[in-house]
Amino acid sequence: MSSSVALRLPSIDGLLRHPACLPLAERYGREALLSGLRQLLDELRLSVLQGQLSAIEISPEVLAGRVGERLAQQQRSNVRRVFNLTGTVLHTNLGRALLPEEAIDAVQMAARYPLNLEFDLASGKRGDRDDLIEGLIRELTGAEAVTVVNNNAAAVLLTLNSLGARKEGIISRGELIEIGGAFRIPDIMARAGVRLHEVGTTNRTHARDYEAAISPRSGLIMRVHASNYSIEGFTARVPTAELAELAHRHGLPLLEDLGSGSLLDLTRWGLPAEPTVRQALLDGADIVTFSGDKLLGGPQAGLIVGRKDLIAKIKKNPLKRALRVDKLTLAALEAVLGLYRDPDRLAERLPSLRLLTRPQADILAQASRLQPAMAEVLGEPWNVSAVKALGMIGSGSQPVARLPSAALCLRPQVSKRMRGRFLLNLEAALRALPIPVLGRIDDDALWLDLRQLDDEPTWLAQLPQLQVES
Ligand SMILES: *Cc1c(COP(=O)(O)O)cnc(C)c1O
Repeated sequence: MSSSVALRLPSIDGLLRHPACLPLAERYGREALLSGLRQLLDELRLSVLQGQLSAIEISPEVLAGRVGERLAQQQRSNVRRVFNLTGTVLHTNLGRALLPEEAIDAVQMAARYPLNLEFDLASGKRGDRDDLIEGLIRELTGAEAVTVVNNNAAAVLLTLNSLGARKEGIISRGELIEIGGAFRIPDIMARAGVRLHEVGTTNRTHARDYEAAISPRSGLIMRVHASNYSIEGFTARVPTAELAELAHRHGLPLLEDLGSGSLLDLTRWGLPAEPTVRQALLDGADIVTFSGDKLLGGPQAGLIVGRKDLIAKIKKNPLKRALRVDKLTLAALEAVLGLYRDPDRLAERLPSLRLLTRPQADILAQASRLQPAMAEVLGEPWNVSAVKALGMIGSGSQPVARLPSAALCLRPQVSKRMRGRFLLNLEAALRALPIPVLGRIDDDALWLDLRQLDDEPTWLAQLPQLQVES
């Protein structure tokens, strides 16, 4: 390694002209190459002075190789595609719903050309962006009107602030939920300027509890779909229809935050029942809010639907301007809603529904097909098996319901003491693949749930690059 003859780093100018660096200048630009080389030489200077590097290690070819790796790294975008093999279909951290081709085309069009975002082509006058989807929403939910904002959290905030500011919002103690991140109903209410008036208990709330809370200070009654937990056993909850009747008798609006807000009854596809937007409105909810990228299967958005007079009031709130959606979202949303007009083909065309309804036998067959390749790549000491597994819908839909799925189960055949480290190393290696593969560790094994593995050839092609540290 160390040599007695003092080595000297090549000069920047020499390197820039060296044939090994010319393709890099061509590819990344002279500026980027220059700064990359400067940085690298600065880092190496001390080691060279101390005689810790060989002549080979500071040859122009090796230096060019190192700079090239860094430039490639820097050029790679931070937004990366991944394989979601976690078993959770609508995974909030992984971008929730995947858009159908129809929506992708619509987004491209909206990105590329000017469009009638707020322009009424019939009259030639200024239009309203919510009008672009109002017809579809009315048809699909029975609502009188709609307004769209950035996400459902924004929808809840805007609705509460528009209809209940400086008044009391009555809500059951069993519905004061936290939905991950920083979304807690009591906090959102406070920020919306609505005074929380909680009634009933965690497990049981009765109509008389709501009734007793109503006073001249009341502004609204709110109901929240308990998305990510369930209360079982000795429970009582007032049906929406009864609560709506009670609210209306006292001249108060009833808001229902549905969270996932399915537009169709999912049981027709064998999925767990979720309340639909249409049913909530039929039951008498005056405003219903729900997400665009959960069970709906569209882009991130928050939909506020319901009574025309209340929607008009919500749209007048200056906060609406701060929370509105952009043209790409609206383009995607309209295309997704359009697919719902043909429920018979929805499960083929809407990716989230197609993935959620994939039969277990199908997924298990895929796992068996991929098992040999995985076993071969991993080698000793890994045991790879194709097994049945349980997944989840995710994003707060049906927290207790499990989706019958199948997975590759990767189990290290090592002592109990070593297992944790082996699993973490494998997990890191899978994340380091060109398209990172994300699974989940459970019960001393790493599980790759294949429900969402659509693109099998790409997944297989990168597998030989897996490098697990031991
Ligand atoms: C998911 C959810 C929200 C938040 O919706 P985002 O679209 O993530 O902002 C609010 N309320 C309920 C009941 C939810 O399930």
